[in-house]
Amino acid sequence: MSPSEMTAVVTGAGSRRGIGRATAHTLAAAGWNVAVLDLDEAGAKETADEAAGTHGVRATGLACDVTDATSVEAALATLDGALPPVGALVNNAGITSPVPFLEVDDAEWERVFAVNVRGAYTITRRLAPGMAERGFGRIVFLSSVSAERGGGVFGGVAYSAAKAGQLGFARALARELGPHGVTVNSVAPGLIDTDITGGALEGEKKTALLAGIPVGRNGRVEDVADLITYLCRPETGYVTGATYDVNGGSHIH
Ligand code: NAD
Repeated sequence: MSPSEMTAVVTGAGSRRGIGRATAHTLAAAGWNVAVLDLDEAGAKETADEAAGTHGVRATGLACDVTDATSVEAALATLDGALPPVGALVNNAGITSPVPFLEVDDAEWERVFAVNVRGAYTITRRLAPGMAERGFGRIVFLSSVSAERGGGVFGGVAYSAAKAGQLGFARALARELGPHGVTVNSVAPGLIDTDITGGALEGEKKTALLAGIPVGRNGRVEDVADLITYLCRPETGYVTGATYDVNGGSHIH
């Protein structure tokens, strides 16, 4: 099947300057129909309208809280039949947290895991069976360099642990779904210029971080979106269980 006969679901793609919105665009440019799910319904609809208007694909933007199984179920039920079958899922919805471990409480720990790990589980659990049944699927997780090097950019222990949890999730899922034509990969971005830190990473701290990036700049959302779109191609069927760094060389290991 070609992307034009399938739909790519991108979670957390409502954010105006976010990786998800850029990914919805690059996927649409590659011919995918796109379903945009986000807490921010207006943002999700805006992304979908842009993707459809610019690239001539079918696109829908829906309100969805990935931490709430009922909300996920409702959004996916709306998609069923309205768009072509889901061939790709980008688990992009995520939140970060700078809280030091000696100050973190149970609620903060759970908040971070709820979106990054349980949210990815809930929607993947719902979409993977259809992919396996149809014999084709592409699943991409947005992990982070924080998972590999133990934070040190902005995220604290909870964020690093959750993003590392995603890596194990993706690798184990790749083994299980490989025989069904479904690949599962992760991307691990470094510092990408978006609004995820809510403006908290500016000034001297940012200058110091940039000094440690060999390519001499922070990442752009397009840098990540292009890679995700590559991993979703039907032709990229022999890459699975992999983790791709997109960090300008800031973490070479
Ligand atoms: P962003 O804040 O711009 O976008 C995140 C989106 O997720 C927002 O639109 C938000 O509304 C949505 N979201 C949050 N909670 C949600 C929920 N419960 N249900 C549905 N949607 C929800 O962030 P971004 O920088 O574009 O990050 C995208 C992904 O990339 C995240 O998983 C993040 O952890 C990861 N990442 C980002 C960076 C970076 O430097 N920006 C680095 C490494 C990894």
